[in-house]
Amino acid sequence: MIAKSGKDFDIILISGEYYDDHPLSPVGIIARVLDAEGFSVGIIEKPETKDQFTCLGAPRLCFCVTAGSMDSMLHNYTPLKRKRMDDPYNTVTRMPNRAVIVYCNKIKQYFKSSPMIIGGIEASLRRFAHYDYWDNDIRRSILYDSRATLLVYGNGEKQILTIAHRLQDGEDLRGINGTCIISKEYDETFELLPSFQEVKTDAIQFCKMQKGFSMYKNLAQEYDNNYLLQYAYPTYTTCDLDWIYSLPYTRKLHPHSLLKMARFSVVTHRGCIGNCNFCSLSLHQGERIVSRSEQNILEEIRKLTTHPDFKGYIDDLGGPSANMYGMDCENNNTCRNDCLSCDSLDTSHGRLISLLRKARKIEGVKKIFVRSGIRYDLAVQSQEYIKELVTHHISGCLKIAPEHFSEKVTDLMNKDNTTFDEFVSSFHILNKQKKQYLKYYFMIGHPGDSLQEVQRLRDTIRRKGLDNVEQFQLFTPTPMTHSTCMYWTGINPLTLEKVDTICDYKTKKILKRILLDIKKK
Ligand code: SF4
Repeated sequence: MIAKSGKDFDIILISGEYYDDHPLSPVGIIARVLDAEGFSVGIIEKPETKDQFTCLGAPRLCFCVTAGSMDSMLHNYTPLKRKRMDDPYNTVTRMPNRAVIVYCNKIKQYFKSSPMIIGGIEASLRRFAHYDYWDNDIRRSILYDSRATLLVYGNGEKQILTIAHRLQDGEDLRGINGTCIISKEYDETFELLPSFQEVKTDAIQFCKMQKGFSMYKNLAQEYDNNYLLQYAYPTYTTCDLDWIYSLPYTRKLHPHSLLKMARFSVVTHRGCIGNCNFCSLSLHQGERIVSRSEQNILEEIRKLTTHPDFKGYIDDLGGPSANMYGMDCENNNTCRNDCLSCDSLDTSHGRLISLLRKARKIEGVKKIFVRSGIRYDLAVQSQEYIKELVTHHISGCLKIAPEHFSEKVTDLMNKDNTTFDEFVSSFHILNKQKKQYLKYYFMIGHPGDSLQEVQRLRDTIRRKGLDNVEQFQLFTPTPMTHSTCMYWTGINPLTLEKVDTICDYKTKKILKRILLDIKKK
């Protein structure tokens, strides 16, 4: 049972976002997973007052607290640290800064003895000591500031079920894979990261910590006389994802839902093998692809065609990078090498092409859109896939993210742009009869960037005749990424080489101005 009113719930979920009964909503999934295991779930959305926090009473087992699918500071501030207040939409979706900490401290005030479990991207990526762009300083693990009982990192379905059953059976919460806990001691299975004090005062120690991060290890970090312990992430399999995504979501959305444009979207896989240094997905969803079975995805689409509001259009069929579906590897759980440079990686796109062809044939489906970003350096390895994509699955434009054309900067981003021109020409050849075009995303201000590099970027964009630039994103240092470590320390954690960084507001504004000129021929 999942409800927003009533009493005597087993578990109460508190979220910084509105609740959607939808497989793209982190809270929506956790609620459905718990419900499927027979737990009663209460939902409290964006609480501010005492009444709102206490309206469902105390839970029998625990509170679960999340900011939702985005870190509250990223949600509330622009890359230039200005409060996002300028559009009416934001006043509706506003949440407190550091929402997880604020919500937990309120719960502690009103329900002293109730266990609190924190999760979601804000908690997950702040699980160790981290650089906070908005404080411009190092903060300790969010588990200390929130005073929560336990932290769940990454996708948390397996972890939350283990936690719920242990609480129900009155068992201890130590040792659950995919969680973090504070402890007085640690055993030999843990790798010790530099302590909070060391990373706070020494840039090299901060880099050492950064290089030591992994979801696949037991890690420990010292804080004064105790330790933050991370238990290695549990293995999620195709069967797990098939079960999670086949739960009976109604796809009923909150009036102010963030998912309006994605109501009939279908997730095909999790994880990303891209390992871009500015992205923390590999430390949240994992750096290995776990795909759902073709049969399970097709079954979900068949079910969607019977949904009363379904108009025949699948809004998106994809994952973090749409064309990584099916790039699972039998060595996923044992190998830690870089998949993108590995000969064993299956880049034929065979499973994806098969899925797209079968999904298109489902009765009641008019069109299936692929709106998740694609990795064109992988797509160029299958002309057949590009043909499928542009012929059947895009609506006039395809968005790709070359990010930058300076080799110095893309090396520091760990992005490979050598196949950009090849992809663009394939796209245009295949679109001769169709009026479809590419839209480009660029990132400026990343460590290694400079006024000269951005001027070169502008000139390269002009020389290549790329006139559909969708966005120039200013780099924002988010917790736990290699690029954020470079931004804070001025050192590349992988090579310990010095890196030039642009941290001052004035220069960042100039960078943006250089590129805005492009639009003015
Ligand atoms: S063998 Fe290659 S493709 Fe497979 S997990 Fe390792 S690096 Fe990735």
